[in-house]
Amino acid sequence: MKRVVPKRYWRDINDIFVRFGQSICLPRNPKCNACPVNKYCVYYRNEYKPPAPKK
Ligand code: SF4
Repeated sequence: MKRVVPKRYWRDINDIFVRFGQSICLPRNPKCNACPVNKYCVYYRNEYKPPAPKK
């Protein structure tokens, strides 16, 4: 990231990533169906299994 993002944006980018990890890309149960970047995500493409529908 440091090679593509100018230093003056590092703090803002970090804050965005932290909030993203706390609200969407949760460590145990990521909300991939609601994720705005899921089309770029290798995990979503190769590993993600949508939850079974509730009965
Ligand atoms: S699609 Fe990828 S980046 Fe988005 S929440 Fe799921 S694992 Fe995280």
